[in-house]
Amino acid sequence: MGAIETHRGGCHCGNVRFEVETDLARVVECNCSHCSRKGFLLTFVTADRFSLLQGEESLANYRFNRRVADHLFCKQCGVESFWRSVKPDGTKMAIVNVRCLDDVPPGSFTVTLVDGKSR
Ligand SMILES: [Zn+2]
Repeated sequence: MGAIETHRGGCHCGNVRFEVETDLARVVECNCSHCSRKGFLLTFVTADRFSLLQGEESLANYRFNRRVADHLFCKQCGVESFWRSVKPDGTKMAIVNVRCLDDVPPGSFTVTLVDGKSR
């Protein structure tokens, strides 16, 4: 762990496919109402480290709360494999569901608990 590697991933049906560069040094499990319901394990990268390879047209958008995040899920299979957001300073981010990466088995990384519920 620690080295930045390129991982591929996507939704369940295969319509949505992406590539992400991340070191998986900090995989986040958040207890907010949204993340806990979906069971996300997340890695946060700047948008330039994320490429959607296919499936833009398959994505539907769910927005809630402050509506700064585009929670994109596949219209076919319902899986939210990543979302897009913008930090207060304007930095574009991609937030990737580590559970949707092809080559990253559960237990191969350390999970950091984040208290998103209280924010
Ligand atoms: Zn799908």
